[in-house]
Amino acid sequence: MWAGRTGTLLRLSGWWPTGVLGRRLLNCNAASLAGSSSPRCWNCGGAGGPPRGDRFFCPQCRALQPPDPTRDYFSLMDCNRSFRVDTVKLQHRYQQLQRLVHPDFFSQRSQNEKDFSEKHSTLVNEAYKTLLAPLSRGLYLLKLRGIEIPEGTDYEMDSQFLTEIMEINEKLAEAQGETAVKEIESIVRAKQKELTDDVSRAFERDNFEKAKELLTKMRYFSNVEEKIKLKKIPL
Ligand SMILES: [Zn+2]
Repeated sequence: MWAGRTGTLLRLSGWWPTGVLGRRLLNCNAASLAGSSSPRCWNCGGAGGPPRGDRFFCPQCRALQPPDPTRDYFSLMDCNRSFRVDTVKLQHRYQQLQRLVHPDFFSQRSQNEKDFSEKHSTLVNEAYKTLLAPLSRGLYLLKLRGIEIPEGTDYEMDSQFLTEIMEINEKLAEAQGETAVKEIESIVRAKQKELTDDVSRAFERDNFEKAKELLTKMRYFSNVEEKIKLKKIPL
């Protein structure tokens, strides 16, 4: 019984990050390990190559290896680098990876492995979140091609679109009651659906400029969606 309780306590404590100093030292250590081109396991020194593809563990000693810094989210989540993503498959992959690398499973392991599992887990969460939502997925695809849209860029947006956004914002500000807010919500949702389809077509045609313009519009609507969420919280 005591052993069981201690195990639980250790398991819980494994969740929490170590002290700042220890963490910094570990991060340095991890960074140098991750950046190393040596195809050796950090633990046993055994050959077997650095972690590439799905080789999260050393084939010899089974120690968890640091994340592969060259791997992008699509590769990590086992998806084609495309705007069209099978979200059911994405979710299965997310669960599969969390079962492999979740910090809960490493509470009894070495500090290095605890640290690596936290890094893996954070990466997997971030990759899943990014690829799941069309807007962040599209922005990430553009980023992989060296195209970024800085926050607050109003450039080249046609005045007709900006007027449309302004009017929706005004309507939302004036909206009284649940029905009025829901009506605006459904308009915005339909707009986002339409834009998502257009973005998909733009990526299929490798028209990245068009994708960039459409994603910028989606970001405006996404800001409206955030305001709708706030408005729905009862005061
Ligand atoms: Zn090893």
